[in-house]
Amino acid sequence: MPARTVPERVIEALKAVVGPKGWIAAEAEKTPYLVDARELFHGKTPLVLRPASTGEVAEIVRICAEAGVGIVPQGGNTGYVGGSVPGEEGGELLVSLGRMNRVREVDPLDFTVTVEAGCILAEVQRAAAAVDRLFPLSLAAEGSCQIGGNLSTNAGGTTVLRYGNARDLVLGLEVVLPDGTVWDGLRRLRKDNRGYDLKQLFLGAEGTLGIITAAVLKLFPQPSESCTALVAVADPASATRLLARFRDRTGDAVTSFEYLNRVCMELVLEHLPGNTDPFDQPYEHYVLVDLASGRGGGGLRDLAERVLGEAFEAGEALDAVIAASTAQRERLWALRESIPEAQKHAGGCIKHDVSVPVSRVPEFLAKATALAEEAIVGVRVAPFGHLGDGNVHFNLTQPRQSERAAFLAHGESITDAVHALAAELDGSFSAEHGIGRLKRSDLRRYKAPVELSLMDALKQLLDPKGIMNPHKVL
Ligand code: FAD
Ligand code: ZN
Repeated sequence: MPARTVPERVIEALKAVVGPKGWIAAEAEKTPYLVDARELFHGKTPLVLRPASTGEVAEIVRICAEAGVGIVPQGGNTGYVGGSVPGEEGGELLVSLGRMNRVREVDPLDFTVTVEAGCILAEVQRAAAAVDRLFPLSLAAEGSCQIGGNLSTNAGGTTVLRYGNARDLVLGLEVVLPDGTVWDGLRRLRKDNRGYDLKQLFLGAEGTLGIITAAVLKLFPQPSESCTALVAVADPASATRLLARFRDRTGDAVTSFEYLNRVCMELVLEHLPGNTDPFDQPYEHYVLVDLASGRGGGGLRDLAERVLGEAFEAGEALDAVIAASTAQRERLWALRESIPEAQKHAGGCIKHDVSVPVSRVPEFLAKATALAEEAIVGVRVAPFGHLGDGNVHFNLTQPRQSERAAFLAHGESITDAVHALAAELDGSFSAEHGIGRLKRSDLRRYKAPVELSLMDALKQLLDPKGIMNPHKVL
């Protein structure tokens, strides 16, 4: 177990490592680093460290390891499970990677970019676009989350269907291990079977096995053509059939396939002015489809219209709008991406980040909706998410004219039931947000004993003093 307080000599030594620009001790300035994005956790720390180089990170970790002091790595602090803030006791130091934000190299021939962990995701996308390449990872927090955080949470987002999770976009890593050793694994090889693939240990580890300081990421050709459609579908089963139809008929040109129901649409229309319903009548279920192709020569829109025509005939699709301009595309995407924000305005929200096999999403939605409606009269069931990946954010908004606290008091039992349902359908209680502090008990409940003991053994091997992000994940 790490120490409970940070000795003064350690604090002084760390300040000397990072210099005057590299630390924050004033309470007011520390505050933004100490509350998580969902405001569920309020941590304490004597010092926020903002190192500017891998060498400084290594020195910080070495000093902390020697003194047995816990370290919490932090990127953009947009994580949803409380992994990026320290505990309430004030015995852990926070290491924010934000100053390590250099793009070290972009190589359009290798289709790679080498970046430091503190690069904002949108900056990585821009660096790729500047050499006519695509870095496909995309999520609503991309203007503030950092690539180090994305890799440490194995972030998903809206393009997983085509390009994979964050984990799939990595060729090499540079990591500071829990004793301060720097592992330089910044390779840009597409093939490298020299033994175990060690980088996988740190991807999705949420800072519990080391600090990622840089990465070599895969780039892709920029699509020359894209097409976005919002489609009203008959029901979730029709949505899954429509997904298969689009994948089959377009040469797998589907990059995003996002679901939302009428409740989500209404929350956005009611709470976020400027959004409008693109249809002239309400529908119960919608999917937002993005297609992209690099072949050029046009025709993607025609193809989308043909596929939609077949879907109308098959009774899967009821209505559709295809974006005619970039501005209209952005308006359609805003309807999907502002759902979490609208849910904040609508009162208490009980959130889930569940995945099941794509074919079982309809069954999951039907059963989860039934159990929520039975448990809470008038609950607004507002599921949305990455249907193409079988990943549903099964969120519940409090009934109108109800007490927020009384509603949230149902959280634990509803969440237990929703997670049990996901498990029953061969699914996961955490599809893309990770474990952090929030979901540790579910990890113990649902992960197989042999998997848990492997995780515990790896933690013990790499971080025997338990200083890396204490009390998170495990
Ligand atoms: P942080 O929140 O700072 O940290 C997350 C975890 O990683 C913590 O455990 C932290 O200790 C660790 N960590 C951070 N940096 C490092 C590092 N360099 N080395 C080691 N450990 C580190 N997530 C999705 O997957 N898909 C989505 O579609 C999505 N949409 C979102 C939309 C909004 C509006 C918001 C607010 C969040 C969303 N998220 C989503 C969650 C969040 O954005 C992601 O988890 C993101 O990857 C976190 O990045 P971050 O830089 O903010 O990390
Ligand atoms: Zn998501």
